[in-house]
Amino acid sequence: MTRALITGVTGQDGKHLSELLLAKGYEVFGMVNGQRQDDSKNLSDEFPSVKQVRGDLTDSSSLVRVLEETQPEEVYNLGAISFVGMSFQQPELTANVTGMGVLRLLEAIRATKMSERVRVYQASSSEMFGKVQEVPQTEKTAFYPRSPYGVAKVFAHQACVNYREAYGMHISCGILFNHEGERRGPEFVTRKISQGIARIKLGKQDKILLGDLTPRRDWGYAGDYVQAMWKMLQQTEPDDYVISTGITHSVRNFVEQAIMAADLPGSVENYIEFDSRFTRPSEVDLLIGDSTKARERLNWIPKVSFEELVTRMVKSDLLLESRNP
Ligand code: GDP
Repeated sequence: MTRALITGVTGQDGKHLSELLLAKGYEVFGMVNGQRQDDSKNLSDEFPSVKQVRGDLTDSSSLVRVLEETQPEEVYNLGAISFVGMSFQQPELTANVTGMGVLRLLEAIRATKMSERVRVYQASSSEMFGKVQEVPQTEKTAFYPRSPYGVAKVFAHQACVNYREAYGMHISCGILFNHEGERRGPEFVTRKISQGIARIKLGKQDKILLGDLTPRRDWGYAGDYVQAMWKMLQQTEPDDYVISTGITHSVRNFVEQAIMAADLPGSVENYIEFDSRFTRPSEVDLLIGDSTKARERLNWIPKVSFEELVTRMVKSDLLLESRNP
């Protein structure tokens, strides 16, 4: 039985990945922060066979202990302050968890003498491309982050590349473009829209307050993207891969599609109100990834289209909202 350790196990990707690895017969350990009792309870309700271990990316000694206790063959580092908007308000915290946390984890792997046998997946992000230097973005495109989150992810990514080269560690970075789904947190725009449209359809809300509708993202389905994480760690050689659909849509397009999925009349303006609180000091205007390398070497392809993704999210929220008066 292969043993995997997942940090950030209570998040969207952590849950999808737990599902995937359990189905493959893995023994799955999930690192949880002792202060987040609700997250931990939700995880044990949904995935009773994920073994929870207490630890935190800001606490080196806890990382050493978790590694010693779990003796993993694969480590998936999905733990991060992952919301770009929040990273502007708590930049140091973001740098500490999302950036330095990765360095601590890699050092803990070295300190426990596991660097030769453990394979590491690092959740790198398309936010590293920020103000894009090339269209579409590939593994070779220069980084130009536009938020404290993006800056921290670049630090983490480069630390992984360095530890791979310096110590020969098997570390692969997945440069994942935005990936969404029914489990997405409501602070992200996609879920905010699907939840809002579902509530409007059910007469529970009139409008959704949003920031800028023009930014474009390459949105895929999280369930497809965790497959790529696993595939990276099954390769003989570690490497970096862009994971994306290659198709970009604006926030406005997402709203339009959600209106259609809910079978509501009218257009975007009927349901959206601008609120400057949801704009950002510096914005990422356009993301579109070229995942040719992953398609060729990992034989990975995204299966869920943009239209299906939005429909799934709206349907799921209609069900949740109708059960919850
Ligand atoms: P990100 O790409 O990781 O920042 O993912 P988000 O889902 O948080 O944001 C995607 C885009 O939607 C960004 O360009 C935001 O500026 C834009 N956006 C517009 N209105 C909102 C809003 O109300 N909430 C969020 N989260 N994003 C918004």
